[in-house]
Amino acid sequence: MPLPRAILFDLDDTLIRAYAQPEEAWRRLLATFAEPLAAHDEPAIERVRVALMDAARGMWSDPVSAARWRLDIPGARRLATRQGLATLGLDDAGLADRIADAFTEMRRAEYRLYPDAHDTVDALRAAGVKLALVTNGAAETQRAKIERFDLAHRFEHIQIEGEFGQGKPELAVYRHALDKLGCDACDAWMVGDNYEWEVVAPQKLGMCGIWYDPFEAGVPAGATHTPTRIIRRLGELLEG
Ligand SMILES: [Mg+2]
Repeated sequence: MPLPRAILFDLDDTLIRAYAQPEEAWRRLLATFAEPLAAHDEPAIERVRVALMDAARGMWSDPVSAARWRLDIPGARRLATRQGLATLGLDDAGLADRIADAFTEMRRAEYRLYPDAHDTVDALRAAGVKLALVTNGAAETQRAKIERFDLAHRFEHIQIEGEFGQGKPELAVYRHALDKLGCDACDAWMVGDNYEWEVVAPQKLGMCGIWYDPFEAGVPAGATHTPTRIIRRLGELLEG
C-alpha cells in the first residue's frame, strides 16, 4: 500500500504496551496477595483472577459505563475488584482497593514503548506523512505517557479524550483530527489495536482502518468489518 497523506495513531497498546495480556499480569499481582486472600495455591489464585476479570468485563462491555470509566481507570479497577471479591464472598473494600491500586501501579511501572515505535513514526514523518496521536482516556494519565515516552514533538496534532470531550469510536473524534491535519478521510489511515475504534469506526468515514495485532489474536468473532490491513509490527507500515 502506498503511504497516505495522513495517519492517526492510537497510543495504548499500539505505540506503547500498556494494558495487553491482563491475565498474566493479574496472576502475578494476585500471587503477592495470597495471604490476605487466603489463596494458597494456583487454582485458588486463578479463581480470584477469573472473578476480578469477569467483574471488569461486565463494566467495560457496556459502552456508556466504559466511556465514563475510561477517564478514571484506577477508580474502575477499585470498583471491579470490590465487585469481583464480593462474588467470592469476600466483602472487604479495603483489601479490594489495595489490590486494585497495586495492579494500577504495577501496570504503570511496566508500560513500555514498542521497540519500533519511534523509528516508524519518525520515518513516516520524514516521508511527509502528517501524523496525529488520537487516544482515549484521561488527560493527566495520557499526557504523562506522552511525556514519559517522548512522543509529543513527533505529532502534528495530539487529541486526548479527556481534553477533547469525546472519545473513539465517536465519529467526531476522527473528523476533528482529520480537520486539524487538513486531510480528507479517504487519504488517511487509522492505526491501532482496538478493532471497533481503529477499524470499524474509521472505515465508516471512508478512512483505512489498519489493525495492529501484535499477539496475533485474530479478528474478533462475528466481526462485521475487514481491516484494510493487519500488521504485527509497526515497522510494516513502511514496507508497502
Ligand atoms: Mg489501544
